[in-house]
Amino acid sequence: MHNGFNKSAQLYKEAAGYIPGGVNSPVRAFKSVGGTPVFIAKGEGAVLTDVDGNTYIDYVGSWGPLILGHRHPEVVKALQNCLEIGTSFGAPTELETVLAKMIIEALPAMDMVRLVNSGTEATMSAIRLARGYTKRNKIVKFAGCYHGHADFLLIKAGSGALSLGVPTSPGVPASTAEHTINAPFNDLATLQEIFSQAGEDIAAVIVEPVPGNMGVIPPAPGFLAGLRRLTEQYGALLIIDEVMTGFRVAYGGAQVLYDVKPDLTCLGKIIGGGLPVGAYGGKREIMSSVAPAGPVYQAGTLSGNPLAVTAGIATLQLLRQPGVYDTLEQKSLRLEQGLRQAAADAGLELIFNRVASMLCTFFTSEPVTDFTSASKSDTEQFAKFFTGMLQKGVYLAPSQFEAAFMSLAHTDEQIDQTIEAACSVFKEIKR
Ligand code: PMP
Repeated sequence: MHNGFNKSAQLYKEAAGYIPGGVNSPVRAFKSVGGTPVFIAKGEGAVLTDVDGNTYIDYVGSWGPLILGHRHPEVVKALQNCLEIGTSFGAPTELETVLAKMIIEALPAMDMVRLVNSGTEATMSAIRLARGYTKRNKIVKFAGCYHGHADFLLIKAGSGALSLGVPTSPGVPASTAEHTINAPFNDLATLQEIFSQAGEDIAAVIVEPVPGNMGVIPPAPGFLAGLRRLTEQYGALLIIDEVMTGFRVAYGGAQVLYDVKPDLTCLGKIIGGGLPVGAYGGKREIMSSVAPAGPVYQAGTLSGNPLAVTAGIATLQLLRQPGVYDTLEQKSLRLEQGLRQAAADAGLELIFNRVASMLCTFFTSEPVTDFTSASKSDTEQFAKFFTGMLQKGVYLAPSQFEAAFMSLAHTDEQIDQTIEAACSVFKEIKR
């Protein structure tokens, strides 16, 4: 029995009077899929309950952090214990070194790490560091990759910027955008051309190793290795933005899965276990330029916050248990195969891109390998898919250009229910 969305609609209307667009992050508003957002009352395991009492199998997982599901008992217990000592000190704690060591142990290319409060802070700070270290200004990013909302990265960006049709935001001065060079993802030839022309001015290439902000796109074989080779050749730094992929596609991240060693890595989401966290780290020599060890300034009142760090430690402790990523793979494969079959049964030709526990259904029959091909997806069909699934109790990201995330809390039964829902929604769309 569906309870309708009355209370959500009411709360949304009220919120819109006080908060721009009624939300604190754009994609939450359901703008690109029509309708209005559901307001959440509670999360438990893989299930969300909204304020009208409807329940959903959740594939958003707070946009990636909740790889263990909502309210994992170990994380809750750790947080409760942490509350006994305090919520913030603005002074160092041993916990920060514990988390830093865990991260460094998981990432072979990382010698040192600095904790911040969000993915945006991580990428913004990593770019400043790359510029300070190389004494160059230009950066290269790939169209459709999203690296948070710092000015120089909000250019042809993915995620909400893409689904709201403002990939390059007003408010970004032309003089800032000038230093950002855009390149197509998975296209080494174009990147080679860019380096031949401007290589001496390029401080860094920043990349989502498995883009998840224009839907999900696997890196072509050799693409990441090519980035490493080209950046090295021209003395530019390679920054791998693993805010989404870190501890998601493998323990460590995509750089472990694809065996590529960046100069700097950005992290967020999972390493905060659902609390606000980000991090950037890399080679000792480069990280030694960060204040107070070196001259590149970066700071934060709440950085290394004990609650966030505690949730991160508890999460990584569980993720490093043997077999965890195999389990995630099995669950994700089950969903992918089921969805493929459901689409085939409905007579729909769709593209399913999946890397580990990141999955995306594109409403196109052509392979999706970059921003241009992702943009060909029929977003109206996606909107129908999203709305149909929501009504059947499956909570997907409310935009074509996002990933679905599997968690360890999803049961086979819930995955099969998801497939069943997709079966009937695909058939409705086909009609
Ligand atoms: N980089 C990537 C790859 C991301 O997916 C995101 C957020 N989805 C960010 C950076 C920005 O992180 P935050 O929203 O925590 O600022």
